[in-house]
Amino acid sequence: MPMAREAIELLVQAARAWHFEGNRHGLRDREWMALRFLSRANRFSRTPSALAGFIGATRATASQIVKTLEAKSYLIRKPSHEDKRSVVLCVTAQGEKCLAQHDPINHVLNAVSALGAEECARLRDSFREVLNHLDATHQRVNASICRDCMFLAQRSPAKGRGGVEYTCRLYRAPISPEEIELLCTSFEQASDRLRIDEHRERVRVAS
Ligand code: SF4
Repeated sequence: MPMAREAIELLVQAARAWHFEGNRHGLRDREWMALRFLSRANRFSRTPSALAGFIGATRATASQIVKTLEAKSYLIRKPSHEDKRSVVLCVTAQGEKCLAQHDPINHVLNAVSALGAEECARLRDSFREVLNHLDATHQRVNASICRDCMFLAQRSPAKGRGGVEYTCRLYRAPISPEEIELLCTSFEQASDRLRIDEHRERVRVAS
């Protein structure tokens, strides 16, 4: 327990990099969080409702954040290909540049990268375990990448016909190899036993 406490105390100190008063380079901490999330999210999660769930805000607060980011030309809305009544929030080249140059977490990111690939993987897996435990306790919306999701199906093509094809069984849609590495708020750990229908209902109610 003392070591767990020590680890958490250090994590809280590291969190000062992304939780702060006022603004940095013109954005408050939650606006940075939103911009960061949208630049990494897949097409199903770049929606106002997924954003609100991820940053732990109401739809009204998320909508205000979207307006702020739009006003700074970091974000634009596009009609969704999946659902004509919905919009997809897309980070602009200017938004990506701002993240690359000024995102307050960049220093932490560099420090973690310097630990090396093996230590990074261990750290990632440990945080995933901790988040899974917190998910079960607090029912929070978290996001992770398709690769480890229970809804990802893959099919090897017939001989000589290109690479592996991926499909999301939740959204019943193809997933490109590039999208495998993007964040999704509907992610469920592959070992979880949540029934797909139950999860579809959750997604329908949230959207
Ligand atoms: S496979 Fe999982 S993570 Fe990927 S889009 Fe589907 S629900 Fe989201």
